[in-house]
Amino acid sequence: MPLNKATVSAFDDALAKLATAARALIPMIAETLHAQFPTGAYLVLTRSKDPGHADDVLFLNSVRDASGGIVCWLDPSGGALDPLPAVPPEIAARWGDSDPRSQRDLLDLLQAVDAVDRYTFFDWLPDEARRPGESDYREPIGVPLPCQCRVSGECAPC
Ligand SMILES: [Zn+2]
Repeated sequence: MPLNKATVSAFDDALAKLATAARALIPMIAETLHAQFPTGAYLVLTRSKDPGHADDVLFLNSVRDASGGIVCWLDPSGGALDPLPAVPPEIAARWGDSDPRSQRDLLDLLQAVDAVDRYTFFDWLPDEARRPGESDYREPIGVPLPCQCRVSGECAPC
């Protein structure tokens, strides 16, 4: 667009589209985690309060069942070399150049979504899925992992 045609409304429209695209990634991430951990009810995240971080950036915590039982601990900064479980090819294809088995790529994607409009896209983890003391020092975030499996029996534990 020529500079002399630039408008604030075009910029606002682009931001709105970005926010819509970012929000749409969250169900994709949830579907991926559900495929990897069929008994998981929440992907749990925390925000950094460390002075070394300029922003309250997101960190990985765990995958939990509905009553807070740990299905899988995750590496907070995504550095774990252990890959997450494999996913069906149709889910992997939606990750493009990112690897759905990489904790680093998962965290990068979550941080990128959050950075579009911080504190907008993620909800707190319900009390019943929290661990003792968690409410006292830092509110954990919970991304629900509903079963969206289309084929009956595709996901036995659901
Ligand atoms: Zn399922």
